[in-house]
Amino acid sequence: MDTLPGSAPRRVDAIVVGAGLAGLYQLHRLRELGLSTRVFEAGDDIGGTWHWNRYPGARCDIESLSYSYSFSPELDQEWVWSEKYAGQPEILRYIHHVADRFGLREHITLRTRVTRAVYDEGDRVWEISTDTGETVTAPYVVMASGCNSTPKDPGVPGADSFAGPAYHTARWPREDVDLTGRRVAVIGTGSSGVQLVPVLAGRVAELTVFQRTPAYALPAHNRPLTEAEIAEHKAGYPEFRAAQRRSKGGSVVTMPTRSALEATEEERTAAYEAGWRSGVLSGLLRSFTDLLVDRAANETAADFVRGKIASIVTDSSTAEALMPRTFPFGTKRPCLDTGYYAAYNDPRVTLVDLNRTPIEEITPKGVRTSDQERVFDAIVFATGFDALTGALTSVEIVGKGGATLREKWADGPRTYLGLVSAGFPNLFTVTGPLSPSVLTNMMVSIEQHVEWITDCVAHLRAGGFTEIDATPEAEEEWGAHVAEMAAQTLYPAADSWYLGANVPGKARVFLAYVGGADRYRERCDAVARDGYEGFVLS
Ligand code: NAP
Repeated sequence: MDTLPGSAPRRVDAIVVGAGLAGLYQLHRLRELGLSTRVFEAGDDIGGTWHWNRYPGARCDIESLSYSYSFSPELDQEWVWSEKYAGQPEILRYIHHVADRFGLREHITLRTRVTRAVYDEGDRVWEISTDTGETVTAPYVVMASGCNSTPKDPGVPGADSFAGPAYHTARWPREDVDLTGRRVAVIGTGSSGVQLVPVLAGRVAELTVFQRTPAYALPAHNRPLTEAEIAEHKAGYPEFRAAQRRSKGGSVVTMPTRSALEATEEERTAAYEAGWRSGVLSGLLRSFTDLLVDRAANETAADFVRGKIASIVTDSSTAEALMPRTFPFGTKRPCLDTGYYAAYNDPRVTLVDLNRTPIEEITPKGVRTSDQERVFDAIVFATGFDALTGALTSVEIVGKGGATLREKWADGPRTYLGLVSAGFPNLFTVTGPLSPSVLTNMMVSIEQHVEWITDCVAHLRAGGFTEIDATPEAEEEWGAHVAEMAAQTLYPAADSWYLGANVPGKARVFLAYVGGADRYRERCDAVARDGYEGFVLS
């Protein structure tokens, strides 16, 4: 290690970008391997998603007992989750506990954004530059910079002209934001908006929700966990963790066996009611085998959800506006809500359907749609992210021959297994584009990637290799496979962030592997077992 007097090392064995759930685990594993490692984190504290998304109502949509690290049986036994779905503050406390328990903090540099990474082909090291003026070199770089971590520009004219406070759900301030008695606008009705709206509705004087595309939202039925449940779960954790690792989506669930179209209407309704009652994000989708591949089958589930909206929302025109009709159920990530639809029965809550009256501009006073200007004290943007690629292409990553990742990915990301991109040796991504990532329980996918990367680095060091790079052929074959799998589903029918469709000008490429985390893990393991097939080690 090359250390400047009184400063952190400027030459280390590995650099990790991001101190969220992925970066922290990667740091832990590299430290275990004996590598000097530095983590750079743009935020003023660790936690990643759970540090930034501290808006009222922020909560995980995967059950707490599943959405947690599995690598330490002791950690599983000592940490106690309080609710079926943990809220953001509790998950952040867990992350801090993990950082302290495994002694990770001293290796993390906060408030420091990595702006540039340049590969030195002669020395086979990456040189990283930061916005604080530091340069650090290391043979290995792991981008653990998140899938939904770069907020997208809301793209509303005049957004900067608003005179009152404006917030983005993913950049919610640390200090208390008191909106009591205020007139508040929320723009966006994805998972963030759907969680925020019912909580804000109870606090503010007037809440106006600007909706462009209605979401399918399913009830979370969140509740405190009982002591008996926790004890039972802890007793079975080893088997549960093993089952998670073998599962298709990273959660232990029963998979369906028959088609929706083979069932009678009564059978379908009964299955959908059970899915709705389950309070699990994938509960309804797992009612039948064909909901994500057959439009007619999907329509039966979509109809069921629309029926539920009609039964909850008392004003029929509001209910109608809330019913999604333009994309199949499940092809955008469904939302898990607590009281979202019922919030519209509160006379203080108004829905503005932007399909009827589009936003023309944000003004100093509020929001002007095609029919009127509405005045607000505060505006909240719940407008989403430049997903999967945004955090990677926002860094100037320069690989072999001076090529940049940004240019290489101009027509969509090209990766081998979502782990590496050819021409950018020794640079790995955790849950990168074209891996199962966002279609799974992220914790399981994060652990799988981190463990694969760690084993790969150990293999390189043990074998005296200084460089690993994917072959362009392996990368092309993987990209074609990912696209072919996605094309067999209904996913491409939605203008979703899975496809980059939410960011104007972004290439329309399906960004995740739909084949399942189980199948994907087998492929990654086989690649390593077969001497890193599809890679060149030198
Ligand atoms: P999102 O799903 O991309 O939703 C953004 C919303 O903003 C959409 O309704 C979108 O409408 C709207 N929007 C964007 N730009 C707009 C504009 N200029 N004018 C009007 N409306 C606009 O983003 P998100 O809700 O932050 O969620 C992103 C993902 O993060 C989720 O799918 C999930 O994976 C994750 N997340 C998870 C949780 C959880 O665990 N519970 C919570 C929050 C987020 P269009 O659909 O028409 O573009």
